[in-house]
Amino acid sequence: MKRESVGRVKTECYHPSDHLILESGEKLSNLTIAYETYGNLNKEKNNAIMVCHALSGDSHAAGWHLRDGKTGWWDILIGPGKCLDTEKYFIICSNILGGCKGTTGPSSINNTTGKQYGLDFPIITIKDMVNAQRKLLDHLDIKQLFAVIGGSMGGMQVLEWCVSYPEMVRMAIPIATSAYSSPQQIAFNEVGRRAIISDSKWNNGKYYDLEFPDDGLALARMIAHITYLSNESMYEKFGRRLQDKSEYSFEFSTDFQVESYLHYQGSSFTKRFDANSYLYITKAIDYFDLTENGSLEEAFKNIKTKFLVISIDSDWLYPPSQSKEILMALIANDVDVNYYEIKSSSGHDAFLLEGGQLNYIISNFLSHSLVRDVMSHHVIQISNNSSIKDASQLMISENITHIPVVSEEDKIEGIVTAWDISKAVALNYHNLEEIMTRDVIIALPDDAIEVSARKMREYNISSLPVVDDTGRVIGIITTDHISNLLAGNYK
Ligand code: SAM
Repeated sequence: MKRESVGRVKTECYHPSDHLILESGEKLSNLTIAYETYGNLNKEKNNAIMVCHALSGDSHAAGWHLRDGKTGWWDILIGPGKCLDTEKYFIICSNILGGCKGTTGPSSINNTTGKQYGLDFPIITIKDMVNAQRKLLDHLDIKQLFAVIGGSMGGMQVLEWCVSYPEMVRMAIPIATSAYSSPQQIAFNEVGRRAIISDSKWNNGKYYDLEFPDDGLALARMIAHITYLSNESMYEKFGRRLQDKSEYSFEFSTDFQVESYLHYQGSSFTKRFDANSYLYITKAIDYFDLTENGSLEEAFKNIKTKFLVISIDSDWLYPPSQSKEILMALIANDVDVNYYEIKSSSGHDAFLLEGGQLNYIISNFLSHSLVRDVMSHHVIQISNNSSIKDASQLMISENITHIPVVSEEDKIEGIVTAWDISKAVALNYHNLEEIMTRDVIIALPDDAIEVSARKMREYNISSLPVVDDTGRVIGIITTDHISNLLAGNYK
């Protein structure tokens, strides 16, 4: 299928009526969460994918904004025919708590003072960011995510989602990330923060009505930018080439192309990012540590999510060894996990650039959904000695059309549908046993959803009870559950 853009998009804002209790114990009220969505939420609300952004990202992950005329930062992966296929999935991306692109952060107005928060903004953590996203999901009435995906700090949010809300995430894709910040990562962040704080224009965070500390923020970005590239990609991009000259200047002006590039990266960053947000977000990254009693295995003990862990071979900021640590801790907990190392010379930045490999491995992973990934766990059943009236009343009160009939031992015995009830009325039957279908077409939890779709098509039925190996009904799967997920194949 041709890969297309989601087209023109716009950012929405959600204002929760209650406050957010932060990990520090502080309360944050008057919260705003800026977010974008792409694709449609299906009737079962089970096709939502949360995209988590990295340090300097925002909610504009795909498509094109009329406001700033920019394509989203993950446009290579989100859209019709791409791995985060908007014909199948409902994609959500919100700006993180503490950010400066619409969600409440240090540059937002503090209602108690009428001025920007500055350093009065409370310290936030990755868990607080996830809790804000959780509020957004409640607002959208989504009980469970089909998947959560993100790279770098976005990957930290992915891991936090699975640890904090293990029941709410079916599949997780952390990319180029770590379960805790290493001393080297903290060290780079601290140098960046010092660059900002040492800028006299920073003025203890109170610069909003004055001059912006652009020298400090630009320097912080220049340092960080080096960590996002690899030595190889720098050789490829710049070599030792000089900028607009053929000889060394023998002074401290810009000689090399790499210097000029970093200056450009630094100064353009100051036009789109807030210096205080940079301080707060890097602090949240530094505090991130999922280990419990020094053990990642212990931290992952309640995880129920299926994982695809992705690393990048040339990434020295979040090296593959950190992803392998996540992988090993998941394996130790018997979690269903796949691992893939992207081959790229682009360093950490590859998670934003390697569209070919990412589209291939992510779409393969997501499309191999099993019945257990999408079925409803809440199944209304009826016992085989009930009356037809009981069954019809249950259908009306629960607004359902298919009810599995079970024995006293809770084993599947048959199925009764609204179609069978109308037959009973026409033919004047009274017992459920007389009208129920005994040859039940079932699904197994580990069947691929394509198998169930095929069965439903073949037998012209719209619902299959999901049965475990003892014959007990553990779920139900309907055409509504899968119609979006198999868009193009099943309609
Ligand atoms: N397509 C519609 C549906 O699934 O409700 C109705 C058509 S289908 C011919 C109706 C018959 O299929 C009913 O007698 C019902 O008991 C039966 N049926 C529905 N789901 C079934 C399943 N999973 N296994 C076996 N029979 C089933």
